[in-house]
Parts: sequence; C-alpha cells; structure tokens
Amino acid sequence: MFELINFVYLLSAVLFMLGLKYLSSPATARMGNKLSMVGMGLAIAATLLNPDIVSFKMILIGIAIGTVIGAVAAIRVEMTSMPEMVALFNGCGGAASALVALAEFQGPGVAFSSFGLITLILSVIVGSLTFTGSIIAFGKLQGLVPSRPICYPGQQVVNALILLAVAVLGVIVYQDPANLFSFYGIVGISLLLGVLAVIPIGGADMPVIISLLNSYSGVAVAMTGFALANNALIVVGSLVGASGLFLTKIMCDAMNRSLANVLFGAFGSGDSPAGGDEATGGPGGAVKGYEVEDVATVLENAGSLIVVPGYGMAAAQAQHVVRDLCDYLQEQGVEVRYAIHPVAGRMPGHMNVLLAEADVSYDLLFAMEDINEEFAETDAVLVIGANDVVNPAARSNPSSPIYGMPILNVDAARTVIVLKRSMNPGFAGIENELFLKENTMMLFGDAKKSVQNLLLALKE
Ligand code: NDP
Repeated sequence: MFELINFVYLLSAVLFMLGLKYLSSPATARMGNKLSMVGMGLAIAATLLNPDIVSFKMILIGIAIGTVIGAVAAIRVEMTSMPEMVALFNGCGGAASALVALAEFQGPGVAFSSFGLITLILSVIVGSLTFTGSIIAFGKLQGLVPSRPICYPGQQVVNALILLAVAVLGVIVYQDPANLFSFYGIVGISLLLGVLAVIPIGGADMPVIISLLNSYSGVAVAMTGFALANNALIVVGSLVGASGLFLTKIMCDAMNRSLANVLFGAFGSGDSPAGGDEATGGPGGAVKGYEVEDVATVLENAGSLIVVPGYGMAAAQAQHVVRDLCDYLQEQGVEVRYAIHPVAGRMPGHMNVLLAEADVSYDLLFAMEDINEEFAETDAVLVIGANDVVNPAARSNPSSPIYGMPILNVDAARTVIVLKRSMNPGFAGIENELFLKENTMMLFGDAKKSVQNLLLALKE
C-alpha cells in the first residue's frame, strides 16, 4: 500500500510542478490552477489510503469544515482583497504544520531520530511564527492593526534576543525531548516573534511580506514532512518554499529594494517628502489640468495608444470601463496596447488579474521589458492611476527612494495623459516630475468617472 501511496504522491508532485510552470503566464494560468487542483486531490486521496489512519470521523469533519470555508471565501472575496486571503491561507498553513508537529511530539511512545527531532522543532518554530506573522499582515491590510510601521528603539536587538531564546530552547529540547516546558516555550516565543517581526513593516509592504510568509509556510510543511517521513509534504513544502522565495526576490528587485530594506527599513512611515498638493497647485504650480474634451481630442487623433494601469485603476475599479474605452478606440482604428509594470498595484500580477477579469485579451498585454522601447514611437499614453511605476526620478534622481527601480518610460511618448484625483503621491510618497512635463496632460478625477466621461465625449 505504501508503494501505491508514494507513487500517487509522485504523480501529484509532477502535477504541482507543471501547475507552477503554467501559472507563470496569464494565458495558461487557468490550466496551471486546474493541474494543481488535480494534484492536490490525488495527494489527499492517497493520504486517506494510509492504513495507519485510526478513525475517518475527525478527518471527514475537518474536510467538510475546510471545504465550506474555502469555497465560501473563494466565491465571496473581491479580487482586490486577494492579498488578505493569501495571508490567511499562509497563516493556516503555518498553524497546520505547527499543530501536526505538536501532535507528533506528544504522540504516545514516539522515539525520534536526531534528524526527526530537529525538523520537528523547526516545523513548530517556523509554523508558529508564520501563523502570527500572517495574522498581523492580514490585520494591517484590513486596517485592524495600524498600517504604519510600529517601531521602538532597540527593536531589532529585542527581536534578535527573542530569536536567540528560541534557538536556546530548541537546543534544550533537542537534548531532552521530555522537557515539555521548554517545548511549549518554543511555541509561545515563536508566536510572539511572528507578531514582533511584522509590526515594524508598513502596510504597503505587506504583499512582499505575505510572499515571504508563504515561503515560510512551505518550509514549515517540508520540515513536518521530514519529521513524519511523508514525501508529499516534503515535495509540496519545498515547492511552496522555493516559489515564495523567488516571488519575494522578484518583487524586491522590481522595487529596487533589498529584502533587508523591506524587513527593517520601516518604509511608508509617513515622513514622505511630498504629498497633499491640491490639483490646482502642485509642485512648482506648472501642472496642466485639462478638460475631458481636450483629452478626447488627443485620443481621437492618436494612431497608437499605450494604456498604463496602476494602483488607482484597482482602487477605482475602472478596469471594465477601461476595456470599453479601448474597444471603442480600436474600432476607430487606434492601435491599443497595455504596458504592465511588475509591481504596478499592490500585489504581484495585480493588473493582469484585473484586466483578465475585464476580458482584456492577453495579446494586448506587454511586460515592461517588451514595451519600453515602443513609447518613443507612440502617439499617446494613458496612465490610469499609476504613479511610482512611471516616475522618471527612478532614472534621474540618485537621492530618490525609488532611484534605480526600472520604470515604464512613458515620458518618451508624444503625449502623456495622466488620470488621477489630485497631486497626491503614490506608494513611495514622492513627487513625480512627469506630471509637470511639457507633453503631459493631467485629467483630475476618479479614474472610473474620467474614463466613462472620456468615452462619452468620444462618442458625441
Ligand atoms: P502608486 O501607489 O505609485 O500610485 C497610485 C496612484 O493612484 C496615486 O498617486 C493616486 O493618486 C492614484 N489613485 C488612487 N485612487 C485613485 C482613483 N480612485 N482614481 C484615480 N486615481 C487614483 O501606484 P503604482 O501602481 O504606480 O505603483 C505601485 C507601488 O506599490 C510601487 O511603488 C510599488 O513598489 C508598490 N508595491 C507594489 C507591490 C506589488 O506587488 N504590486 C507590493 C508592494 C508595494 P490620487 O490620490 O491623486 O488619485
């Protein structure tokens, strides 16, 4: 029976890997999800064949509760709340690993090998801190916990000492596995560490932290797998751990920030050098606000248009009207493309997901590196609620916090139209000289309303 179970685990591991491969492109992502679902179904079914299972009653109750919660959450949660949902899932993954390791540790007459004991202790540590860290990340995104970085003097020293305490307790338990007091000490301190590690990080950096915690939850699962000698847990945990870490790196690179800066930099603490200028004023007072009709005239006369969506499009939920506008312009013979910056919005793939929801064809979506050369040959660029990802300071101002971050070179286009509500800065909290440029037209207002008005004006 164990051969059969391991064979099915191998099959599901292959499906998970294929699933990850397919998930790397929007065009094949649905297939990737389906393959992974089948893989997970097979892994669960194979686990249920295990002859060591004492009673199916609790398992079935667990499956029923989990299915209801998962299905309701997946159906009801808005696209823009996906990071919160992923945070909760990560937390559940961490908690599950820690609980399994805890149960195993207390199991009757269990004798551990040195390796088994080490992985069990690591599973409890990583799983527990992933659980509380994810809950705090969820709280920050939901506004239940203050979103700003919560810092105090000597914070990193305190965290380092707590980490040291966990390590010392880990060694004690390793030497004396009967020392339950120290074991529960590890659980308690690890839970505290998760909270303390995440509170100094600003709410806007939470997507990066959630990706990192996702990786941690994978590590916890893999450690539990080693402790239980369960191949499925080892493979799945490793895949989650590695892919979460890669995603974290990709996000940090795209923001030109190191992981250390995200973890310890207290980014977004509110002391931004810019912000709050009114639409009518703005830095230098040279901002040119235009009427809908002026902008419609430019679009009417453009042969080519590149749309650059950003966080504001998500906030305004403007993706459907943007699609309508672009459909109309295409019917009028305008060549329309979308330029997607890797960290536009507030979560990886945010813009792709929103545009897919609005049925925008994947063929029209271009990654930054594939379209950046094209701006110079383009008549008009429509920047919809994007700010940092088009800020030329990233290229030209070495003192800017985003200096070195690759940006979309929209300022090279003949005309740049920017839709936003005010001169307020974006996530990085800095001024954007793009808004002052000679070839920039600002159309102030909520992105959805502005796009609707533009479409009306064009049709008149
Ligand atoms: P930004 O946060 O730089 O700017 C968004 C702009 O949208 C604001 O300037 C705001 O201006 C405008 N806006 C907000 N609401 C509306 C609305 N209803 N209608 C019209 N405009 C609106 O967004 P970007 O997408 O350009 O950049 C993303 C930033 O987030 C980057 O700095 C990135 O590093 C960071 N980040 C991204 C992550 C990711 O995974 N994608 C993860 C973590 C951080 P106004 O208030 O004037 O309307």
